[in-house]
Amino acid sequence: MSESGAALHSPNPTFDPGTAARILSSDWGIEGTVSALVSTQDQNFRVRADDGRQYVLKVSNVAATAEDLEAQDLAMRHLASRPSGFTVPEPIEAHDGRRLVEHEGYLLRLVTWVEGTPLADLGYLPPRTLTEQGRLAGECCQALADLRDPLFDRKLQWDPSRAPALVADLIEEVEDPDERRLVERAIAPLVDFDTAVLPRQTVHCDVTDFNVIGSPGADGRIRPVGIVDFGDVCESWRVSEVATAALSAVFREIEDPLGGMLAVVRGFVEVVPLEAPEVDAIWPIILARAGALALSSVHQAKVAESTPHLARLLEEDWAVLRAVVGVPRPLAIAAIREVCDRAPVPGDPAVAEALSAAPRVAPVDVGAGDLSAIDLSVGSPRFTAGEWSRREDVEAAIGGAPAAVGRWGEVRLTASGLPADAAPATLHLGVDLFVPPGTEVKAPLAGTVVEVGERSVSVRLELDLDEPVLVRLAGVLPQLRVGDVLAVGVPIGAVSEPRTQDVLPSHLHVQLSLGGEMPGLVPAAHGRAALAVCPDPSMLLGVDAAAPAPHASAALLERRSRSVPPAAGTYYEEPPEMVRGWRHLLFDSEGRPYVDSVNNVAAIGHSHPAVTAAALSQLRLLNTNSRFLYSALEDYVERLLAKCPPELDRVIMVNSGSEAVDLALRLARTHTGREDAIAIDGAYHGWTTATFEMCTYPPDLRDWQQHPSARIHVAGQPDPYRGPAVDSGPYLDSVRDACEAAAARGGVAAFVSEPLLGNQGGVETPPGYLAGAYDLVRSAGGLCIADEVQVGLGRTGADFWAFEHEGVVPDILTIAKGAGNGYPVGAVVCRGEIVDGLGPGSFFSSAGGSPLSSAVAAAVLETIEAESLQENAARQGAALRARFEEMAGRHELIGAVHGRGLFMGVDLVKDRTTKEPASEEATAICERLRRLGAIVQPTGDHSNVLKVKPPLCIDDAGVERLAGALDRVLTEGW
Ligand code: PMP
Repeated sequence: MSESGAALHSPNPTFDPGTAARILSSDWGIEGTVSALVSTQDQNFRVRADDGRQYVLKVSNVAATAEDLEAQDLAMRHLASRPSGFTVPEPIEAHDGRRLVEHEGYLLRLVTWVEGTPLADLGYLPPRTLTEQGRLAGECCQALADLRDPLFDRKLQWDPSRAPALVADLIEEVEDPDERRLVERAIAPLVDFDTAVLPRQTVHCDVTDFNVIGSPGADGRIRPVGIVDFGDVCESWRVSEVATAALSAVFREIEDPLGGMLAVVRGFVEVVPLEAPEVDAIWPIILARAGALALSSVHQAKVAESTPHLARLLEEDWAVLRAVVGVPRPLAIAAIREVCDRAPVPGDPAVAEALSAAPRVAPVDVGAGDLSAIDLSVGSPRFTAGEWSRREDVEAAIGGAPAAVGRWGEVRLTASGLPADAAPATLHLGVDLFVPPGTEVKAPLAGTVVEVGERSVSVRLELDLDEPVLVRLAGVLPQLRVGDVLAVGVPIGAVSEPRTQDVLPSHLHVQLSLGGEMPGLVPAAHGRAALAVCPDPSMLLGVDAAAPAPHASAALLERRSRSVPPAAGTYYEEPPEMVRGWRHLLFDSEGRPYVDSVNNVAAIGHSHPAVTAAALSQLRLLNTNSRFLYSALEDYVERLLAKCPPELDRVIMVNSGSEAVDLALRLARTHTGREDAIAIDGAYHGWTTATFEMCTYPPDLRDWQQHPSARIHVAGQPDPYRGPAVDSGPYLDSVRDACEAAAARGGVAAFVSEPLLGNQGGVETPPGYLAGAYDLVRSAGGLCIADEVQVGLGRTGADFWAFEHEGVVPDILTIAKGAGNGYPVGAVVCRGEIVDGLGPGSFFSSAGGSPLSSAVAAAVLETIEAESLQENAARQGAALRARFEEMAGRHELIGAVHGRGLFMGVDLVKDRTTKEPASEEATAICERLRRLGAIVQPTGDHSNVLKVKPPLCIDDAGVERLAGALDRVLTEGW
């Protein structure tokens, strides 16, 4: 930022690097290479001295006085002299002891280089890093608190206390009246603020993205580690330090200005607790500074030579100004208070009392006795199969109620929409009265009209309270003007017809708000603050229309951690609470929809009505064990066998993949009379004792090493991408070795493998591997078990079973997961002679193959066919693959795209030559993908392969969200 008000009118110095190098040599005795850095108003050079040290040579704008520069040096020396968690540049005196060196009328200084990269050059930063940036600003502010000197009494244009004067100076330069109004709206709250009460101290006043230096931590994520550019250091309001840093987060998070800003404030107040007036000054300062920045960029564009850099600044500054002015002010202030551990609305505004004392009428004539609150929440039982996105369906779901009331404080499924980059506004801040269009609306209380929209009116109530209280009526065609004074009960218009795009049928929305206008819905993340600003208007209607308070997902996680061990942990740093699934989407408790890329279990789509119907009707009829004779089992088994090679003609049903593989092993052992089994390195086949013996998937590896089983032999992982070879030769050698090792102990009973390496992210084995391995094992007298728990049932697109790709037929096939679409169903399919070894009646599973399991599993198979889901897997899988491959051409991080159909893996590498797995990156990328509406998780031996195995019904929009979100993350960072 600039060094003084006058700098606004002075162009940057224009020394060339050669001159800079000469000065460096003559005045500091330092030889080295010099390169130019970007600066708004000064000129800075990076110096790499021949002795390896690095510096910045700063040529100040002519407007900077010697006192200005001494002030900066004093602050840097002060900070450098104290132990702190961050680094600052240290001033270096010239060889004759001068701190300032003059050339051609310019003052030059040399400071040490702070290693790292400015946050501004690091792309996207997660909220956690923004909070660390806030903490850094807090530490800097705390360290400067005891530094007092008349030098800091500077008149700087970027000192927020000067913002109103700066705006007054420059506003005339803005020609567009709308833009001018925008700036005026931004500056007004600070002009009206009683700033005399704000504590003052020395502040850096520019702990922004350009001046905070970041460096990657051990987990690969960026940590803010240094602060540079002390050009704006001055005595100002202490709170300026956090407000300037917080505005810089808005530049990053322009789609969610509140979220980014709050993340910074959260970090700052962890270090520097603020007084109540300071907390309330944060937002006015942010607004004012955004206005001042936009104006000064207009000015710069006029006085300076136009460059793409300036043009971009101009555009960004105005976009940020629009974004901050667009945030409802009462919400911003309440949310900041909340983050600062204060009540979102301080004191008891006694609104309820004042409202109940005021004369009032119901806004529409509906007998209060007839009103009934209806549930439109994410978990509402009124909605089953996607009927929350079309008005006629919502109308039907609301149905019968004579005068339905939509609840206050409800996270609405009807507002969820489709997965998008930002969280949708789902939290309902008013009450809805579902009444026919044309219903007369009356003023519920006396007041003055303050805003009239096309379909809404806001009235400032005549209540004896300090804060203005507004009532907003929306969904009404108002016949009023701003300034109209309304007596209680006067007609104000009629309920309007819904607009074409409205999901809800006609209704009157009634909402209270304290301190200013609020939208009808906001993203649920800001729920507590928003509901404090918009209290429950139930009493205006004579019905209790408050939805139950939602519990935070953090509280649920805490509850879970008390009784569920970490062995059964959750996805994500801050796991969202999942409430609903539909097709290839998941919805969390904040009403946010996500494309689900990990649930191959919900093969035909979440909450498929065919499964629900089959389960319900079977549960109503009969559910018992398979010792009884009933048709459901036979109906399913025949349907399943019709999908299998003719050699496989017997089925035993169980409840899970682990059970299926466990039983398959038992069958092989019984049939061959041998014990030993061969599994592939890195495999997962289940948690039962017998299957777990074979698991060398990373989370299980330690256990496997601690309790090795002599009867299990591990064959090399046939991964042509990361393994030792691209052809099957060496991998088959290792199967041969395993067969020989087994032979030494009595022979091999079974070779167990996933035909497509699902747990590695869909790695395709080299051509001929499976056929070769089956041949080797069979000639050694063993059986071949194909574990299709993950990869079967049409998922690979071209084939129904993944083994078909290699033209082999296993002896035993195991299925589960998608077989019941999430309902526990597993099955073992094999040849008759293999299962005949089990004595009559020697197998029993209480629920395996029950009428319920069978009915559900039959519905799944029927749906795969009826909805052509295998074909969809082929089509959408190809579309996804094409997107990933195109992206791989642009993003070095993508090392390979594994898999077929809708079982794919995007293999992330730090380096394409070494193929070093990008494991930390994959985790961080998944965190950001979630913030962009996509549920993706890493898998594989190194947890660096992104799972792409969505429900088979994924559509074009789902593919676009998944690929688009990944592209965005790889472009912008994580
Ligand atoms: N086999 C494979 C290949 C699997 O991926 C899994 C589960 N991830 C299992 C078996 C075990 O299935 P379940 O979790 O249903 O017991």
